[in-house]
Amino acid sequence: HLTSEQLMDTTEHSLEHTLRPQRLEQYLGQEKIKQELSIYIKAAKNREEALDHVLLYGPPGLGKTTMAMVIANEMEADIRTTSGPAIEKPGDLVALLNDLEPGGILFIDEIHRMPRIAEEMLYSAMEDFFVDIIIGQGDTAHPVHFPLPPFTLIGATTRAGTLSAPLRDRFGILAHMEYYKKEELERIVLRSASVLQTQIRQEGAYEIAKRSRGTPRIANRLLKRVRDYAEVKGEGLVDQEIASSALDLLRVDHEGLDSVDHKLLNTMIMLYNGGPVGLNTLSANIGEEMDTIEDMVEPFLLKEGFIQRTSRGRIATQKAYEHLKLTHLTDN
Ligand code: ADP
Repeated sequence: HLTSEQLMDTTEHSLEHTLRPQRLEQYLGQEKIKQELSIYIKAAKNREEALDHVLLYGPPGLGKTTMAMVIANEMEADIRTTSGPAIEKPGDLVALLNDLEPGGILFIDEIHRMPRIAEEMLYSAMEDFFVDIIIGQGDTAHPVHFPLPPFTLIGATTRAGTLSAPLRDRFGILAHMEYYKKEELERIVLRSASVLQTQIRQEGAYEIAKRSRGTPRIANRLLKRVRDYAEVKGEGLVDQEIASSALDLLRVDHEGLDSVDHKLLNTMIMLYNGGPVGLNTLSANIGEEMDTIEDMVEPFLLKEGFIQRTSRGRIATQKAYEHLKLTHLTDN
C-alpha cells in the first residue's frame, strides 16, 4: 500500500514523465540541434548503423535528458541511463555496456563526474567497441579482452570545459544547448498546460515563460504552482493577472530572478560594493554550494548581463544596480 505522500510522489513523477516530449517534432526549441540530429539519425538508420556518440552540454533543466530519450525513440533503440557519480568502478561500466543490444544507447548524465578510471575505459569502448579489463588479483590477475556490440554513448554535462580532451574528442556529435527564447517557452507552457488539463490564456503562458530563466524545467515548475494558485484563488483559469500574482507570491520577479539571485546580487552590492568577489566568498555568504552557484545561478545572470566575470572575481553590473532598485520599489 502507498501512503498518500508516496502517491503524491508517484503522481508528480508520472506527470514529469508525461511532460517530456517523446519525438523530435514535439521537442520545442533548440532548432539548430534538432535540424542536425534529424539528419544524422536518418543517415544512421538508413545505413543500419549505431548513431555516432553525442555530447549534450548546457545548464541544467534545458532538456538534455529529454533529448537523449527522444534520440532513442527516433532511432528505435534501447536506452539505458546512468550518471557519472553512479559509476563507482570500471566493472559498473562494463556491466552496463555488456547489457546493451547492438545499436543500443547508453546515456550518462553528469558525465564530467565519472571516475577517471571508468572514463579511460570508455576511450576504447567508444572508439573500437571493446574494453580490456583485468580479472583476478595478484598472481592470477590477467587481462581479458571484451568485445562490445556497436552502441551510442550520449553524455550530458553542464560543463563541457571540465571534460578531459580525450573524452570530448571521442564524441562525433557535439550539441550545445541554449537557453530558450520566451516565445519557445510560451509554447512549452501551453503544451504542458494541455497535458495537465489546465485552462490557460496565451498571455498567462507568456507571463510564466518570461519569468522562467530561459529554462523549461523552471517553466513547468512555475506552471504547476500557478495552476495551484489559479484553482484556489480563482476559477482555475490561468490568465495574465493570475500568473503575475502567483509569481509575485513565489518571489520570482519580472526578469525571472528569484530569491537566491536577489541574495547573490544584494550580497555583491551591499557587502562588497559591487565586487569583484570570489566564488567561495559568495558561497559562504549566501549559503549555497559553489557548484550550485556556478551551474544554476550564475550562467543566467551572466547571460542577462547582471554580473560579469573577471580574473579577480564576479562584479555586479549597472543593470544589477538598476534592477534591484526597481524591484525594491515594486516590492513596496
Ligand atoms: P536536463 O537533463 O537538461 O537537466 P531535462 O531533460 O530533465 O533537463 O528537462 C527538464 C524538464 O523540462 C523535463 O521535464 C521536460 O519535460 C522539460 N523540457 C525540457 N526540454 C523541453 C522541450 N524542448 N520541450 C518541452 N519540454 C521540455
